[in-house]
Amino acid sequence: MSKRKRWAGIISLLAVLALFVSFIASPATVGVAKSGKGEVYTGKVPKYVFVFIGDGMSYAQVSSAEMYMGQKAMPGKVTPKQVNFTQFPTHGALMTQDSTSFIPDSASTATSLASGQKTLSGVINMDETKTKKYKPITEDLKARGYKIGIITSVPITHATPAAYYAKVASRDDAYDIGKQLAASGFDFFGGGSFDKPTGTNKDQKPIFEIVEEAGYTIADTNEEIRALDKNSGKVVAISPALDGTALNYEIDRNEEKGELSLADFVKEGIEVLDNPKGFFIMTEGGKIDWANHANDAAASIHDTIAFADAVEEAVKFYNKHPEETLILVTADHECGGMTLGFANTGYSTYFEKLQPVTMSYVEFDKILSQYKKTATRDTAKLEDLMDEIKSAYGLSTANLSQYEMGMLRKALDWSMIDKSERKYNEQENILYGTYEPLSVTLCHIVNNKAGLSFTSYSHTGLPVPVYAMGSGADMFNGFYDNTEIYYKLAAITNIS
Ligand SMILES: [Zn+2]
Repeated sequence: MSKRKRWAGIISLLAVLALFVSFIASPATVGVAKSGKGEVYTGKVPKYVFVFIGDGMSYAQVSSAEMYMGQKAMPGKVTPKQVNFTQFPTHGALMTQDSTSFIPDSASTATSLASGQKTLSGVINMDETKTKKYKPITEDLKARGYKIGIITSVPITHATPAAYYAKVASRDDAYDIGKQLAASGFDFFGGGSFDKPTGTNKDQKPIFEIVEEAGYTIADTNEEIRALDKNSGKVVAISPALDGTALNYEIDRNEEKGELSLADFVKEGIEVLDNPKGFFIMTEGGKIDWANHANDAAASIHDTIAFADAVEEAVKFYNKHPEETLILVTADHECGGMTLGFANTGYSTYFEKLQPVTMSYVEFDKILSQYKKTATRDTAKLEDLMDEIKSAYGLSTANLSQYEMGMLRKALDWSMIDKSERKYNEQENILYGTYEPLSVTLCHIVNNKAGLSFTSYSHTGLPVPVYAMGSGADMFNGFYDNTEIYYKLAAITNIS
């Protein structure tokens, strides 16, 4: 053997030894698992993982918020004001179809994101036969020492959050989902409350009792929630200000009264979960979806901005731990078929027309139901409501066309019929969906004046965006199936 060859042999032996020693010394710092498409991650395993899911949020929902903010900050200029996550270094896109349809629901898509499997619409972490259960990534991460947090602006038992801790044949079985929350042993749940907290049978134990017996503290006042920290133990934090069992729409949130935002729950979640072994936090902006179902563009824009504010809490954390943090922002599916542009506004937009909108359709529904107590279908007149319409939507006889006034008169007439007795033909189905006819028509008019429109009251089959920053972010480049989110995260966190 020549001298050179001998040296080369010694060097390569040393290299192998060094690799072996580094592997033994830090077995959990390098991911080696393969993603679904066989990609290998060899970077640093992030200790802190944030996953944000904008429910119903595709490109139009994000861009409308950026254009609205840009128009507001720089009137007359054509400059979007980008939200934090569209400035992340990595961009990808997801296909969202499930086993049922190209137009999926939140149960199947959240299953794909959380567990890497396709299933039927309505099913959470079970297969198409509803017999085999799938394990969400949170279970393996918990076993590896990560603390787990689940946060949402809609009920904590809703499909998207449920996919990170429950397995049920039907997303409607919220009582069972609540029981599984208590049994999960996960560390922090925050945002909206429990749907079906008492079950359908009277002898079923209230969910809150089950949750407390499982060792959780229920924090449901602002003071209790604000006081949460790393010594709080396992926590379920529920906003005291709710619209049903969800947080209020951001546009309706009373900031002066200190009403908590989605960002507040992320902030408190970080305080509870921050520990040397790390955490995984899934945060859902669930009311983006609900606003788009209702074709309420202003509510969608405000909730998308609130979602970006929640992401900002993760960005602040990232700035303190840039080497150990991954932030992933994505969505489950599009909703409403929102688009930027409308037949009657052509190549122009007028986002300033959304600025005077002061409330969501839910709040306008309340005004309308008050009015219904004072009028009948025969006596109701649009003129009676014009002051309320002006203060809610900035619309008045000065800026409404005859055509639009006609739409509003017809919608009011339908709204004055008891919901159970409305017999819609095809046209009314298209015009109003399942919403209060006057409220949804006001939304349509103000949207269209701004140059925005919707095609549906349901989800659509559009792809959704992915944005990532931090350890492992590069893995999320490209266009791929939504199940890949699970496999990529599993590779990055070295659990598969
Ligand atoms: Zn939806």
